[in-house]
Amino acid sequence: MIFLEKEYWKKFPIWKNVSENEWTDWKWQIRNRLKTAEDIQKIIPLSEKEKKSFKKTSNIYHFGTTPYYFSLIKEFSQNNPIYKQIFPSLEEIDENIQKEAFLDPFKEDIMSPVPGLTHRYPDRVLFRATNFCSVYCRHCMRKRMFLEEERARTKEEYDRMFQYIKENKQIKEVLISGGDPLTLPNKKIEYILKNLQDIPHIDIIRIGSRELVVNPFRFFDEELLEIFERYDKVWLVTHFNHPDEITDITKKAVKNILSAGIPVLNQTVLLKGINDNEKIIENLMRDLLKVKIKPYYLFFCDPTKGVLHFRTDLKKGIEILEYLRGRLSGLGIPIYAADLEGGFGKVPLFPEYLIKETDDYYLLRNYQNHLVKVKKEKRKREGEGGV
Ligand SMILES: *Cc1c(COP(=O)(O)O)cnc(C)c1O
Ligand code: SF4
Repeated sequence: MIFLEKEYWKKFPIWKNVSENEWTDWKWQIRNRLKTAEDIQKIIPLSEKEKKSFKKTSNIYHFGTTPYYFSLIKEFSQNNPIYKQIFPSLEEIDENIQKEAFLDPFKEDIMSPVPGLTHRYPDRVLFRATNFCSVYCRHCMRKRMFLEEERARTKEEYDRMFQYIKENKQIKEVLISGGDPLTLPNKKIEYILKNLQDIPHIDIIRIGSRELVVNPFRFFDEELLEIFERYDKVWLVTHFNHPDEITDITKKAVKNILSAGIPVLNQTVLLKGINDNEKIIENLMRDLLKVKIKPYYLFFCDPTKGVLHFRTDLKKGIEILEYLRGRLSGLGIPIYAADLEGGFGKVPLFPEYLIKETDDYYLLRNYQNHLVKVKKEKRKREGEGGV
């Protein structure tokens, strides 16, 4: 975990007059986003190559970061894990690199009974509340929304989405995503949560948000914390990719969320050059546990247009899990999964621990490659019907 010094932002000349009240105000962070190459150049000079990357990508994909997230760049270099998640690169628009990628690989817009909803698994539905984010991650699996105008959905659109959920009683869980739903004003968040909480067959409302990573001050907003307390079906899933993203502020923010009765889980995306390394993932998972966030998924990078240059080999994630097992508390081990192109859903991938099966036993392997036989239960006896 990173401990940020008091008023550390004042070392950046553009923020030297920013008070603590402003810096720690989530709305100030969103209002004062860095949105252009010019904004960045007020902080640090850009190389010719960087200027070119901005110029060529800026009218295709949005650019944006909160000052807080930007301030976590420890050393300003193209290899820095936070720099890579914020700054555009020419690889995003390189047709040779991106030619096998898709705008909407999982057919979210096609498998959509009502605009804004994707219904892929019987018992849960994806609810896209807005296409705005306070940071535009270069590796976003919904990068197609960067091509759209930024807007939250209208009340009428939400109402149609609620109606569909009400009419489909097999739906037990709503996953509110975006964009980033927690960038919405509290009133809108409350409107969504109230309508969903009131549907009797809904057991879980899962909010997917990156605000804890890029704008943790969101969770010091008393009004939002009170909303969380009122809607007890809510769970929060966030998106940390690197240990440099976890600070003492994260820890306090998580404490506020947990105090409001909301469990916090994390999804990480395996990203080439950012975290595709056993040690980095181990440290990330350890740091998540220290601040009481439960690692949930580690995702293979999706084949999304504009993102393919971040993709690792599929097996890299399995190797990382192999490394973690035995070394790290089971609480810290995520499920590694790949989302199948074409809308076929997520597939979990594991190292192989069941080595062999004979008529009499199974052969299992532990994390040190020690082999142990487990005898088969002979349930079916002659003359008796089997189970
Ligand atoms: C990922 C996803 C879900 C949630 O899947 P879990 O395995 O429950 O986390 C639901 N709907 C869609 C469309 C998804 O892509
Ligand atoms: S916050 Fe989430 S939805 Fe928004 S750009 Fe980042 S990954 Fe995509």
